[in-house]
Amino acid sequence: MSIQVAVDGPAGAGKSTISKMVAKELNLVYIDTGAMYRTVALYAIRQGIDCTDVKAVEAILDDIEMDIRLEDGNQKVYLGDEDVSEAIRTPEVSVGASNVGVIPAVRIKLVELQRQLAGRYDVIMDGRDIGTYVLPNATVKIYLTASVEIRAQRRYKELIEKGTETTYEEVLEDMKFRDHNDANREFAPLRQAEDAVLADTGNLNIEESVELFKKIIQSKVKKVK
Ligand code: C5P
Repeated sequence: MSIQVAVDGPAGAGKSTISKMVAKELNLVYIDTGAMYRTVALYAIRQGIDCTDVKAVEAILDDIEMDIRLEDGNQKVYLGDEDVSEAIRTPEVSVGASNVGVIPAVRIKLVELQRQLAGRYDVIMDGRDIGTYVLPNATVKIYLTASVEIRAQRRYKELIEKGTETTYEEVLEDMKFRDHNDANREFAPLRQAEDAVLADTGNLNIEESVELFKKIIQSKVKKVK
């Protein structure tokens, strides 16, 4: 069986940054499931569809040609022939992704793709429902968290460095909105799996967090170096 490391937690906890680095060091394939929800949202937004309009989003689901490609060990998301890996990183798409993530039909479609990838490779997969729903038998489950203020501060810094115009207050509000959507949706809400190890990165820098992850993974998986 392939190695499956499931990483869940709220937005901005550092899941993708840490998982990406751990993937390189332990020779795992990093799968970012948030990018898939973002791609559905991007497609809907481009079609002029409101991401909270369940019927309208359901109606376009079959038209979305999403492809996950691994290029130099990095995950790229394609919509048809277009690499949208950067276009899905805007605040508008973040909110849209949170809204389409509430729709069961969207989740069912994306979970199928996620399970296929996890069956094919040794993965470290991050999201909100990986340990609880997508990969309930994952080899290792980590629940990553930090306070909402710390997460908003990190995300704000990231966006500013990328040249996105925003304020800390706006990012904090977005983060609270997404936390609420993730934790309260009916279908596969965000919660810590019973057998997940809790990791609070509030007081850890990235290197320390990577070391913590490696320790947790290596204690459960003898196969990785
Ligand atoms: O992880 P990221 O912030 O890129 O995810 C964008 C949005 O997609 C999240 O706010 C969340 O609502 C949704 N999502 C989800 N389930 C996942 C991954 C992401 O609902 N497994």
